[in-house]
Amino acid sequence: MSKNKNLHIESKCVHAGIKEYEHGPVVPPIYQTSTFKFESADYGGSLFAGEQKGYIYTRMQNPTIEAMEDAVAELEGGYKALGCASGMAAIHTVFSALLNAGDHVICSKSVYGPTSTLLATVLSRFNVETTFVNTSNMKKIEEALKPNTKVIYIETPGNPTLEVTDLEAVSIFAHKHNALVVVDNTFMSPILQQPFLFGVDIVVHSMTKFLNGHADVVAGIVVVKDDETYKHFRKTLNQIGGVIDPFNSFLVHRGLKTLAIRMKKHTENAIVIAKFLEAHPKIDWVRFPGLKSFPNYKIAKKQHKAPGGMISFELKGGIKAGKKVMNSVKLCQLAVSLGGVETLIQHPASMTHLTMGKEARESAGITDGLVRLSVGIENVEDLLDDLKQALDKA
Ligand SMILES: *Cc1c(COP(=O)(O)O)cnc(C)c1O
Repeated sequence: MSKNKNLHIESKCVHAGIKEYEHGPVVPPIYQTSTFKFESADYGGSLFAGEQKGYIYTRMQNPTIEAMEDAVAELEGGYKALGCASGMAAIHTVFSALLNAGDHVICSKSVYGPTSTLLATVLSRFNVETTFVNTSNMKKIEEALKPNTKVIYIETPGNPTLEVTDLEAVSIFAHKHNALVVVDNTFMSPILQQPFLFGVDIVVHSMTKFLNGHADVVAGIVVVKDDETYKHFRKTLNQIGGVIDPFNSFLVHRGLKTLAIRMKKHTENAIVIAKFLEAHPKIDWVRFPGLKSFPNYKIAKKQHKAPGGMISFELKGGIKAGKKVMNSVKLCQLAVSLGGVETLIQHPASMTHLTMGKEARESAGITDGLVRLSVGIENVEDLLDDLKQALDKA
């Protein structure tokens, strides 16, 4: 890790995690093997006793996986990372490692749907209680605190409303009350936001999104700051079993090489598109951390190196207009997920959050005309042309 210490972020993306391998390959080979031969019984014994470093079984560790993990840990400014089968597997690993029956969690209200369901319907069965609050309002966090609060789980910017939480303020508060802060950094990537700089304890990502960046892998990762936490998390992940596989690790590691230049292009395009949308007569409001009108503009400025590629906006025409735009786009792809090179558009009220019902949607900040755009790296003029023609029909 130290050899890249003085490099700029674009160079780190290209070189992070790469080690020496037999025959001198420039990229880590795919060690597509479930298990590793021991040269002797004593050697096998010493590996299990932790007296020597080496590979035993791929659920425990694998060189291809380890290379990708080291790369993400380096980019996040963490100590080590744990590759997981999906973003949800990563989040589940964190909760399993940190929580006991009787513990309390404070979680952002504006959070990825399955994360809130994991807490509210799965972990609740194990007597873990969760309070969902708008974490962009420090007061709401203070009000939700209980003597047994163990974890404050933050997604910032939150999905899909893009609410931004002040990570420094939350970390100071949490540590005063013996709680840990976990941040889902999926929307920004370590290129644009490094939560550890603000005192956060643990970072998770859905690598399905920006880190891999090519919409061809489902994967997740947990990044930690110290060896004790790492060892405990590694043991927990090994027991739960939600590990990433060597081939997906290879693909993610390949994606990481262009992460910095992709984030730059996502951001450049998103700034132009956000301004276009804000001036459009059929749009009520636009939420994008790069606009002066953004509710948490000051905190966004402090926390983000650039505003990123995610935009939310509200169509004046509600559900009907939303469906019309969804059915009219040609270059923008109508699909869930985000963070890939292709621009994706989605309308929660008619799609992902349809079955939730209007009242529950509105309490989660999901209005009828809300559209979420994950801006890709296409030419921005082509994207503007496509959005213009689709909005004309709304
Ligand atoms: C997609 C996503 C997840 C879940 O990740 P998977 O890889 O789909 O399991 C978690 N958090 C955020 C913010 C996401 O966008």
